[in-house]
Amino acid sequence: MSSLPDQAAVAAAIAAFEADLAAAPSPREAQTVRDKYLGRKNSVVASWMQLIATAPPDEKRNIGRFANELKAAIEERWNAHAERADAGARPSGAVDITLPGRVGALGRRHPLTSVRDRMEAIFTRMGFAVVEGPEIEDEWHNFDALNMPAEHPARDMQDTLYLATPVKGETGRADDRRTLLRTHTSSMQIRYMQAHQPPIRIVVPGRVFRRDDLDLTHSPAFGQIEGLAVGEGISLADLKGTLLAFARDMFSSTARVRFRPSFFPYTEPSAEVDISCWQCNGEGCPMCKKTGWIELGGCGMVHPAVFEAVGYDAEHYTGFAWGIGIERVAILRHQVQDIRLFFENDLRFLEQFPY
Ligand SMILES: [Zn+2]
Repeated sequence: MSSLPDQAAVAAAIAAFEADLAAAPSPREAQTVRDKYLGRKNSVVASWMQLIATAPPDEKRNIGRFANELKAAIEERWNAHAERADAGARPSGAVDITLPGRVGALGRRHPLTSVRDRMEAIFTRMGFAVVEGPEIEDEWHNFDALNMPAEHPARDMQDTLYLATPVKGETGRADDRRTLLRTHTSSMQIRYMQAHQPPIRIVVPGRVFRRDDLDLTHSPAFGQIEGLAVGEGISLADLKGTLLAFARDMFSSTARVRFRPSFFPYTEPSAEVDISCWQCNGEGCPMCKKTGWIELGGCGMVHPAVFEAVGYDAEHYTGFAWGIGIERVAILRHQVQDIRLFFENDLRFLEQFPY
């Protein structure tokens, strides 16, 4: 049996470890060197520990002390070596190509886009074509042609942001040249009818602008889907049937609709359309404010003055139109209390929507 470990043996073992490690040509060999001194079995430290069992009683403590001293010294040198190797292998800023790849986050449609797509799909199945129009409109298309001349009081309700950009007007009048952010998609009724002859069945989705302050239920910019059908013999019953079919597809297969008399300058008669509350089936609940009905939008039969503005024979053709807010439908479908959530783009909100 060789002599028992002493202080000189510790120093010698450390020196030997350092020499072996310095001579190791690769990380793999360096690991082997480490195991030779620190491994659980057959290493220098392990063999010193084994000596404790058979050593004379008064030597046991010293052997343990030297073994632990050697172990700590080698661990310290090994850790320093590993850190140096790590830093050397991967200079700062370099890409570690051995790491697993990062998977890009998958996006999804915004809930307002999903709702708009669904509305378009429903109306498309009923034979409506989807058309879009400009968000910057001139006064004539936005107001005058829709039976809202300059002095009309209904214009105040919708007054909006006028722009400095002049356009060539329809009538050549000075006030006709003003442009504005459209207050409704109804201006596209005019543009489409100017370019097409009946029969017409279109829906016009798009962003519209009002001089509203942002609060829980109002936004100065919001989405609408306009509907327009023009032809021979089109009646209020057709309008009601169309909106009922939409409500049943969008909200509930047992939905009912009701019309409340209302006023819009460009429809006559005009109505607000309500849908029976699908939460309580018309019984009354918090969602419908205990009325059993939920307001959906405005609608009516196209006013003869609108037909005259686009050169249609108002004696020959009839038609209906509606405007439904996209945010309104999204709020109802998803039970969202605050319209602002749709615009803030907080992922914690957006990720709650399934599609
Ligand atoms: Zn209800």
